[in-house]
Amino acid sequence: MKFFVFTIFPQFFEGFKNTGIISKAIKEGKISIETINLRDFAEDKHKTVDDVVYGGGPGMLLKPEPIFKAYKNIINKGHKPYVLITEPWGKKFDQQFAKQLSQKEEILIICGRYEGVDERVKEIVDEEVSIGDFILSGGEPAAIVIMDAVSRLVPGVVGDKDSLKVDSFSDGLLGYPNYTRPAEYEGKKVPQVLLSGNHKLINLWRRWKQLERTLEKRPDLLKKVNLSKEDLKMLEAIKQGIEFDRYVKQSSIIKNN
Ligand code: SAH
Repeated sequence: MKFFVFTIFPQFFEGFKNTGIISKAIKEGKISIETINLRDFAEDKHKTVDDVVYGGGPGMLLKPEPIFKAYKNIINKGHKPYVLITEPWGKKFDQQFAKQLSQKEEILIICGRYEGVDERVKEIVDEEVSIGDFILSGGEPAAIVIMDAVSRLVPGVVGDKDSLKVDSFSDGLLGYPNYTRPAEYEGKKVPQVLLSGNHKLINLWRRWKQLERTLEKRPDLLKKVNLSKEDLKMLEAIKQGIEFDRYVKQSSIIKNN
């Protein structure tokens, strides 16, 4: 996966490119991130990238010429990126959107600044993307959010494939709670079931917790997800306030082995 980023603040991406999973993926050649400074494509000697808004009004806009010139420059090198622009009114970025983008070979993200970009730039844009209903000072944090989420889905970027499967939203539900050592800290204990060694029971408990957490925090997700018969039974039990232990005893699906 190759990312191009058009920005007037390329330094914004240094920490991102040099940290953790992303840095490793770049070193291993699984992804690449090329930040392109729009100032390098400015046409005057002051390297101007912004200008006032026609018709009046506050603030400045990113000028069209540097963006078109930078775009032509990568197209002329034979690249055919899928083009995104960060916009607060764009399509809402989510895990599904990230999955679709992870299928692309090359993605260009144009980062807006000031009041935004000259509307004519939209001619080269495939999709406008928003990371949520709030206003950022620029598209750079949004571009990082998008590249991070998409990169995780590029094969080989996350070392342990199973960890993607247990991520929240990966199967439409939120993730289950996790614990690490010590088994007891200042009287706070790790749930007994996780120490039982009974994997069937642990998987059932985790599914129960996913359903419980989703019901409590994001009930809207339950309408969209495909639930099994067992899921629906558990969900009903959760809604009735039945405890997991009691549910297991009643339902006799798990024989302690
Ligand atoms: N005046 C604009 C906001 C400009 S914010 C308005 O009222 O809608 C400056 C730039 O930050 C935008 O051009 C966009 O590229 C980026 N940006 C701001 N909020 C964003 C969000 N929620 N998602 C993605 N990009 C955002």
